Amino acid sequence: MVGCQPSAVPVISGPASDQQTISVSELAQLLSLRVDDKTSTHIILRRLGKTVMIFTHKGGSVYVNAKEIGEVSRIEAGEVYIPKALVSKIRSMLGTPEPTPLPEPNPPSVVSGYVVIDPGHGGKDPGATSCLGYYEKHINLAVAREVTDLLQQRGIRVKMTRTGDYYPELEERAAIANRLNADLFVSIHADSSPKSSTRGYTLYIANGASRASQRAANALEAAMSSTGLSSKGVRKGNYHVLVDTNGPAVLVEMGYLSNRYEAGLLRDSAFQGRMAQAIADGITNYLR
Ligand SMILES: [Zn+2]
Repeated sequence: MVGCQPSAVPVISGPASDQQTISVSELAQLLSLRVDDKTSTHIILRRLGKTVMIFTHKGGSVYVNAKEIGEVSRIEAGEVYIPKALVSKIRSMLGTPEPTPLPEPNPPSVVSGYVVIDPGHGGKDPGATSCLGYYEKHINLAVAREVTDLLQQRGIRVKMTRTGDYYPELEERAAIANRLNADLFVSIHADSSPKSSTRGYTLYIANGASRASQRAANALEAAMSSTGLSSKGVRKGNYHVLVDTNGPAVLVEMGYLSNRYEAGLLRDSAFQGRMAQAIADGITNYLR
């Protein structure tokens, strides 16, 4: 609706030269000041207990630590401009001769990539049954979810092959990685053996797997030692999901559900968190 909005911006006759003024946002950045308060009448900037207060209208006073040092040059498009001449004055009154660089609000991610996390089994296929009575599929999903969260927090893009208790076909799991041209496919499982004393985690790659798969498996094996479980090493196994995936692919067996001790750990949510952390670290190290 034309004409409904009264112009809030005062019309400047002959635009003030940018050589002579600086916007308050630029000032804040230049002197590492934090915008502490911003209302329709004033802006308060702070650094280490020192305060810059600016009344936001043309001719409004500029105070540093409650001492008036000058006035606002103009307001333009919601930005408040003060004379550039005030910058050195403000800087010296704040007590730091040189501007300190602003800390990065979010450290730039040093890793990039697309990872597909495959929680083994699901739905009609429970996987192994632990000696404590629960199913492998649930543990795989719980850990996979945490791995996914951790990777996403690190800026890595992740796709899970399943996010609930259902069964995507094995071909489909690999196809998800292939469609995304994933940098890494990691299938998460827990082992079982007729021998209840068998313990430890194992990494599988396909027979004739690429060097990239080998490297990823090595990175995971190293990282997973932080769980306290012992490693059974990197082994070859032509699992469906590994063979069908075009890119690097590793299958993780986190430990033995047929072993009372490891079955107890894998059921414990704190240990699941530790396991997820280890797997996420291994993946991150591989992508780095
Ligand atoms: Zn399994």
